[in-house]
Amino acid sequence: MLQIPIFKAYLHPVTIPGEGVLLLSEDGSKVLHGAVYEQLVPLVDGIRSSDDIVAALAGIHEAAKAYYALLMLEQKGYIAEQIPGLEPAVAGFWQGMGIDPRSAVESLQRHGVRVFGVGGIDPSPMKRELEALGVGVVVDAGESWLDLVITSDYLHEEVAAMAARARSEGRMFLPFRPTGFELWIGPVFKPDAAGCIECLRHKLERHRLVHRFAKTHGTSAAPVQPGLAVSLNAAYALAAVEVVKVLAGADSGLDGKLFSLDLRNWTSRTHALCANPHCPTCGTAPAKSMEPLLLSQKKVTFIQDGGHRTLPPEATLEKYDRFVSPVTGVVSALVKLPQSNGIVHVYLAGHNAAVKLEHLDDLKIGLRNASAGKGASETQAKARYGGAHYRRRTAFLPCYGRAGFGQRVQRSKYRCQAAWRVPLPNGEDQAKDQH
Ligand SMILES: [Zn+2]
Repeated sequence: MLQIPIFKAYLHPVTIPGEGVLLLSEDGSKVLHGAVYEQLVPLVDGIRSSDDIVAALAGIHEAAKAYYALLMLEQKGYIAEQIPGLEPAVAGFWQGMGIDPRSAVESLQRHGVRVFGVGGIDPSPMKRELEALGVGVVVDAGESWLDLVITSDYLHEEVAAMAARARSEGRMFLPFRPTGFELWIGPVFKPDAAGCIECLRHKLERHRLVHRFAKTHGTSAAPVQPGLAVSLNAAYALAAVEVVKVLAGADSGLDGKLFSLDLRNWTSRTHALCANPHCPTCGTAPAKSMEPLLLSQKKVTFIQDGGHRTLPPEATLEKYDRFVSPVTGVVSALVKLPQSNGIVHVYLAGHNAAVKLEHLDDLKIGLRNASAGKGASETQAKARYGGAHYRRRTAFLPCYGRAGFGQRVQRSKYRCQAAWRVPLPNGEDQAKDQH
């Protein structure tokens, strides 16, 4: 039983005479039915003890009933112990995050943060933002719980080196991009978790094919990073919120996820980072080996729209949707083409990663070979982006090169003779739709 109970600061109780009590919050409401709550709730003021509240209800409600009502409020998470000296708004913030405010404040005081600027970025404004929140900005690695790195380019070599050091020395690592049109925060990299900076770099590099091509031909000075003082300050403030959440032990929502906010249209999104199981840094899967391709029989459950599928297109789309992201995805985006005419829908799934870019003319070839899907329904068209996903998976394998199934390609010392149709014992062919 709580000593001095008070409603959590993000809840606002409203008594409805003769009916009960409404507990309003920013995104919803709860109802407390019964006369006992009508009389009890106004007494929960952060001054009276539980015993005082029960005593005040003597002659109206039995003590057992009043104690039980208090217990229910506590068990449902509506009331907590009063914390002297803590602003209600601050207490409500941590309570809403599911964290005891007192332990959150103690964690902020106990855990230090190192802040770095990479690529000429001044970390001072970020440090001031954190210090204003009571976060200890430290210098020594031994005192740091989290390394925060501010950069205009996540692919900067220095970012990778810092992340590697943080991981090997057991610290969390948080990259942050305040410049440009799109603000990026995260992911929060934990030292023992799958999904590291190398996994992220691998995905980012695949989406920046042309930038990589330009880099191999010599680059000029670093491009100007657009940004206003006010937009930078807003970015620092948002990153500071993430830092205090991490330090306090809250579920930050960015474990293995990157948050992006596009200042041009206010579109925000979180991008899940799929860890590479074969990553030399964080992967645990055994090394890849060249295995023969084995096709197996699966029951065809969907035959509409000219495709034989083992799963409906909706299920396929749901299964692979997490791989679609311009930041962390295997497929950068699904873009509806203007050729879609209401009868046939066509979706472009970005660059075909199996096509190499070595000359400017390869750009045209790459455009012609872009992965796409079509279908009589939008879902079917989108689901067929699985072809793009498949091409990207096979692009890892030295034996496939530009090939899809049914093609012969010699690459290196390997030769693939993948058979599209495989005769079955009863003389029929296997389903040919591999998507
Ligand atoms: Zn990794």
